[in-house]
Amino acid sequence: MDLGIKGRVALVTGADSGMGKETARLLLEEGVRVAISDRTDSDLAQSLADLQSLGEVIAVEADVTDDKSVRALFAEVADRLGAPDIVVNCAGVTGATGDFLEVDDKGWLETLDINLMGAVRVARAAIPAMRARKWGRLILIGSEDAEQPYVDELAYCASKAGLLNLTKGLSKAYGCDNVLVNSVSPAFIATPMTDKMMEKRAQEKGVSFDEAIDSFLDEERPGMTLHRRGRADEVASAIVFLCSEQASFINGANLRVDSGSVQTMAG
Ligand code: NAD
Repeated sequence: MDLGIKGRVALVTGADSGMGKETARLLLEEGVRVAISDRTDSDLAQSLADLQSLGEVIAVEADVTDDKSVRALFAEVADRLGAPDIVVNCAGVTGATGDFLEVDDKGWLETLDINLMGAVRVARAAIPAMRARKWGRLILIGSEDAEQPYVDELAYCASKAGLLNLTKGLSKAYGCDNVLVNSVSPAFIATPMTDKMMEKRAQEKGVSFDEAIDSFLDEERPGMTLHRRGRADEVASAIVFLCSEQASFINGANLRVDSGSVQTMAG
């Protein structure tokens, strides 16, 4: 299937690893010109080196918690590649975890600042040029946690629930300009984020990394019927489809890529 986006310009945040890097890879394979971004303490240079043979790709450091940095990112991408037609906001953190009564304001605010306000800043910088051109694709990365909260990560869950609401709201505001806004909600994908979770679990339980994954699936994610971690490329392919011309009538949707983790038909 021709996705019809060859020659378009895309910006992917959180692209030093995981789903962001994989999304950049698949976009490059579609002939899209891609800017990858991540914060300064990331492995962005390595990501750029890994992707460079696939097509036209640049790397620009930016921190989504800083509006000036996000504005500068969009200005530099516009200067070097053109204003992005496609923006995928993968920047995110697990944030503050633990018993709700133990997580203070600082933990909550940091989590919301990166996951929710980061998406707000990126969307605010992305949408004007898309509207002017009457073509745009903005993808926000939610999570199964948005619809199915887990009690030890309520700040993360709330930030992702906010993202789904933001997606719907933006889709209503700018769909009339052919700026289509959708979210993708993964569950338990093999990336550095869940590697860290499983390393901690293995240590706490005194088991191997693979045993930690197995027990996590059994005890914490019974809805994941494929009984394995997902791969970053399995999410990236869904993201890239939503970025494409083929998704021209999809707006305000939340596409779950979770092997059935969310156990409801609603949403
Ligand atoms: P990842 O850790 O590989 O990617 C997240 C990226 O965000 C990192 O590269 C990190 O450096 C970047 N980032 C963090 N704070 C930032 C900031 N202030 N400014 C710019 N970049 C920043 O993990 P991933 O699993 O690929 O995560 C991608 C997205 O998917 C995240 O939003 C995450 O919440 C979401 N998600 C992941 C899973 C999973 O199972 N891995 C499940 C559901 C949702």
